[in-house]
Amino acid sequence: MTAHTVTEPTAAPDARRRRPPGITFASFQPLGIDAGLTAARWAEELGFASFWTAETTGLEAFSTLSAAGCAAPTLALGTGVLALQLRTPLLAVQGAATLQALSPEREINLGVGISSTAVVGRWHGARYGDRPLAQTREWLELARPLLEGEKVTHDGDHYAVGPTRLGVRLGERRPRLVLAALNERMLRLAGELGDGVLLNYLPASAVPWCVEQVRQGELAAGRPPGSVRVSAYVHVGVCDPGAARAKARRDLFGYAVVPAYAKAFERAGFAAEVAALGAAFEAGDRSAAEAAISDDMIDAINICGDADTVAAAVDAYEHAGVDEAVIMPLPWGEDRLGTIRLTMEAVARRDTGRSGDARRERLELAESAFRTHGHRLIDWVADYWRRTDDLPVGPSVEPGWVRSQLDAHPPEHGGDLAGAVADLDRVIVPALTHWQAPGFFGYFPANASPPAVLAELVSAGLGVQGMLWATSPAVTELEQHVLDWLVEACGLPEDFRHRRSDGTPGPGGGVIQDSASSGTLCAILAARHRLDAGTQRIDSLVVYGTSETHSSLEKDARVAGIPKARVRAVPTDGVLAMDPEALATLIEEDRRAGLVPLLVCATSGTTSTGAFDPVEAIADVTEPLGIWLHLDAAWAGSAGVAPELRWVSDGVERVDSYLFNPHKWLLTNFDCSTLWVRNRAALTETLSIVPEYLRTAQSEAGEVVDFRDWQVPLGRRFRALKLFFVMRHYGLAGLRDHIRTGIADATWLEEAIVAHPALELVAPRSLALVCFAHVDGDDATGRLLEAIADDPRYLCTRTVAAGRVSVRVAVGSPRTTRATIEQFWAFLVAAAA
Ligand code: PLP
Repeated sequence: MTAHTVTEPTAAPDARRRRPPGITFASFQPLGIDAGLTAARWAEELGFASFWTAETTGLEAFSTLSAAGCAAPTLALGTGVLALQLRTPLLAVQGAATLQALSPEREINLGVGISSTAVVGRWHGARYGDRPLAQTREWLELARPLLEGEKVTHDGDHYAVGPTRLGVRLGERRPRLVLAALNERMLRLAGELGDGVLLNYLPASAVPWCVEQVRQGELAAGRPPGSVRVSAYVHVGVCDPGAARAKARRDLFGYAVVPAYAKAFERAGFAAEVAALGAAFEAGDRSAAEAAISDDMIDAINICGDADTVAAAVDAYEHAGVDEAVIMPLPWGEDRLGTIRLTMEAVARRDTGRSGDARRERLELAESAFRTHGHRLIDWVADYWRRTDDLPVGPSVEPGWVRSQLDAHPPEHGGDLAGAVADLDRVIVPALTHWQAPGFFGYFPANASPPAVLAELVSAGLGVQGMLWATSPAVTELEQHVLDWLVEACGLPEDFRHRRSDGTPGPGGGVIQDSASSGTLCAILAARHRLDAGTQRIDSLVVYGTSETHSSLEKDARVAGIPKARVRAVPTDGVLAMDPEALATLIEEDRRAGLVPLLVCATSGTTSTGAFDPVEAIADVTEPLGIWLHLDAAWAGSAGVAPELRWVSDGVERVDSYLFNPHKWLLTNFDCSTLWVRNRAALTETLSIVPEYLRTAQSEAGEVVDFRDWQVPLGRRFRALKLFFVMRHYGLAGLRDHIRTGIADATWLEEAIVAHPALELVAPRSLALVCFAHVDGDDATGRLLEAIADDPRYLCTRTVAAGRVSVRVAVGSPRTTRATIEQFWAFLVAAAA
């Protein structure tokens, strides 16, 4: 047989008709199903149109495609190819119809073909048949009406069925019948009866002749030319062609010994190779037979090289008349999955235009990855929240485990965002404490919520930096606005507002800090300025808290140059609240000793037991002396959204600064700590530095707030968006509900504890915080704590209150329900027995 004449395609490929590329899993199934699913996701991300799979002795085609369809919901799916002798027409149609029923809008390609005697006979023990063309015709003639849902009766040479009908209800869209064809008669049959034809193992130069045969088939059947879509597997790999050649040779050899492929290779211009190979093979010399495959043949069919070579190869097939190039990645680089990714990227880049602008291409790829993974990650996060109902609350990994799971070296080549995403489940989730879990009662809650997380995403995506009003007015003004909203929501003083209720500017204002620690530091710095740090010696300043004040006070004082020795712990009363008389005494002693009392930090809701310092009485001490009074309501402040709980900020109208953390208990994920000052002057004066490059006309004119002057760092994130989304989504009513249900649950638990003979409260319940101990003493409470720590459902913190080891239960996760609390109580009762 002589090589066919290659005719030029009659017209340049019609760009509108050409479909985006597809990918087949046929060449890399040995890497495992995960590799296929990863490639399917990549395909979607990179703008491919279809995902195909083969079937010999490995993965079963329809179940593989079902999974791929879930992994990549937008891709068309195809079998390429099913050995048609192995499935009856009805069974194959059932498989395709099942896929179609799963996604009625998706394109499903039922690709079938005559497979080799080895696959059909030797491996599957089915009958190869002596009239493959006739069998194929009959198969197609049966499959078509079955796909259409018709009742079929057929009595032919190969199949006798009926009356029978496909029992799957389909909508408008039906699977397409695609016939794999190599020789003239099969190509014509595809033209006559198929919706598509699939070419394989052919060089681009052989395509025009194949297309011509298909068109002849269409003509003979009276179908308009082009009725049948021409798809071709294009074998390409971004890898070193020299190194890949041995694999390519072996691959082609395996096909060249199959008579139908041998004939196709001959026609495609490789008659000499086929002849030499055949002779050597007959003589039993396998290595000579392999060696007969020339480099030219390899380079024409199994095309390896750089990204441009690969892209040009796909172009060549399309120019030769292929409507849909389905790449068969040759995974012959050192990193096989990486080679597949690079190959796919090379092909995808053709459509974004090989502009030669690598920066642009990098950007487009990253944005495309963002869309693909982003949509899925929203689901992942939402699923994660649900999963926390069942996950063990605390991590069970050994120190170092996380690092042991990760590559020691950073990746040189990227493209593995999918791998990083997969590592969330593999490495990250097992090593987390699930703060959002219903049984998380430790520390204080750190509420995440869907609207807050969406705002976080938007804020990250906007990527703006709100250090000045001018660097993004929305960042500053939204922050002023939502902090004014919070003043109203929590019944805080008018002076805290940027704009008073009557529309006039207020003397104070609110600002979002990353944490309460930073807010308290700002208060100390402002207090120091107000005292006129220029005239006061820093080594004379003293700050006051209690033993119950959060440790951040001491740290902040240290940062501000005030050592531990001048951080006073004012004695507390029986409920661990600051004793104002003792405060007055300490201040007096310090003053007499020549020291300068700078700031008193009162707490509403201390960390250990939720105690409340008497702010009014403390203000009676500080006010006459001009000492800065700071009120830390980091946890309890959120409760102020409920009018009946406004007492949490009693006395707040007499403090100089006030803070609370919506990131604890107000459904706003970390970080978001809100700080208000009654008068902003001291704060902004102490923190304002204006280099030339940060001067703006609006600032100079005093028209705007620049929040860089309200915090230690210059740069700042767009955090206000979180509060904005949270308040818009839940409304104050929703936020109140959240607080109230947490408190009601804690009250239920408190009452159960009070009624139980073996347990007792060590401090009065504070809002949603309950601290209790075993009546038998610290050892018994210690055993209770151990039992809690051993139970994967719960996490509590240990504390010492009134000198007693105690169990601290902080309720407040949005996933906690009364049922969670009741179950926890049943567990406690058993553990305390
Ligand atoms: N103040 C109080 C009363 C706290 O309970 C906490 C933390 O639990 C803090 C301050 C410190 O909060 P942040 O982590 O926001 O600095």
